[in-house]
Amino acid sequence: MIGESISRRGFIEVGGVAAASLAATASSVASFAQTKDGAQVKGQPLPRDAKLPAEPPRRGGADSIGYAIVGLGGYALNQMMPRFSQAKRAHIAALVSGNPDKLRRVGDAYGVPEDARYSYDTFAKIAADDRVDAVYIVLPTGLHAEWAIRAFAAGKHVLCEKPMAISSKDCERMIAAARRANRKLMIAYRSHFEPYNLEAMKLMQQKAVGDIRLVRTEQAYRMGPTSPAQNWRVNRALAGGGPLEDYGLYGLQSALYLTGEMPESISATTFRPNGDPRFAEIFAHVSAQLRFPSGAVAQLVTSYDSAGGNISLVRGTDGTLIMDPATSYAGQKMRIEGPNGRAFTPGDPEVQFARQLDHLADAIRDGTQIRTAGEMGLRDLRLIEAIYASAETGRTLKVAPDGKVRR
Ligand code: NAD
Repeated sequence: MIGESISRRGFIEVGGVAAASLAATASSVASFAQTKDGAQVKGQPLPRDAKLPAEPPRRGGADSIGYAIVGLGGYALNQMMPRFSQAKRAHIAALVSGNPDKLRRVGDAYGVPEDARYSYDTFAKIAADDRVDAVYIVLPTGLHAEWAIRAFAAGKHVLCEKPMAISSKDCERMIAAARRANRKLMIAYRSHFEPYNLEAMKLMQQKAVGDIRLVRTEQAYRMGPTSPAQNWRVNRALAGGGPLEDYGLYGLQSALYLTGEMPESISATTFRPNGDPRFAEIFAHVSAQLRFPSGAVAQLVTSYDSAGGNISLVRGTDGTLIMDPATSYAGQKMRIEGPNGRAFTPGDPEVQFARQLDHLADAIRDGTQIRTAGEMGLRDLRLIEAIYASAETGRTLKVAPDGKVRR
């Protein structure tokens, strides 16, 4: 497999496990690993499919948290920003963009005052803006760490999109910056706020399928023609290794929260076809096998080059949980097959977006515990690095409960 010969230097620093083989391939991948521009903010035009509200949304209540949105791309504009109107304790207070035309159009549509519209160059001024309590980082992943750290330096709390960053080192820097600033850091893992996944967690804890033996997760879609210069999702400096950090992270997370365990060993493989500009810098498929202390085994597969879908399947001693789709924005389906089999409809999956906004608001206002804190994002990046290290070395790696590879 070509992918296995690609050094992931720079984001699989796993206690030296892969160091020897990385060093051997490092020079040959230097040009592969670094894009010309590296990871820098760059304003983009308004996405063609952007949805803007016909009227500015209503403001939150008296104790509502003011969010500054950093990065006005597809996910911010089409998923999260429209959901502020459903939040009880959150409102959009400011916008940050590198594209002045987009900033004006989005600012007007959302009723954001002109003096609360920032560029990346003027971002530091947000420190003096009392309307802003928290910053929502919804930039390409390779930019999360830098802009979260800047937000903490400005004295703001941070909601950061998943994946938290492209390396565990960056995650550690973000957590340290939050501590220094004495501010909250939450990772926007929406499935932890989505009724089907919450119900599935509860059912698995109640042993609704008996003792868990096998887990399978799949997250895949086929990416259209593109290249690292055109699309940050296939650009290593901005996206990391590709589908695993992006879509496959849902499968990794599901395997952990459905079993309620951390893996004790990981083996993995990766694939990257030759000559395809989409995969000049990232992998096309990643497959990983996790073994848990209970003896349960999980098989995760993710791809940017196959027909799409997202599925979680848990086979226990007494039945099977099937979630298909498992982690979409909407339309989840879930059933248990077996002696006590039935379908479940625990609620509207679309509440997952606004619930995240309120969850951080509650943590800020009431001091409640964050369910998806920076430590969870760090744990996941460590596991992602272990997966790449296993694929790189061809070895099964032992993993500690904090996600670090055991020497
Ligand atoms: P996008 O390409 O649609 O938007 C990214 C935005 O970032 C751009 O519009 C631009 O405003 C800004 N930007 C600044 N510098 C940039 C640069 N150098 N290159 C490209 N854009 C730059 O991406 P998106 O789908 O909105 O993803 C943004 C973040 O949200 C990512 O971290 C992604 O993983 C995350 N995301 C999460 C979910 C989820 O379900 N939680 C879904 C989609 C995306």
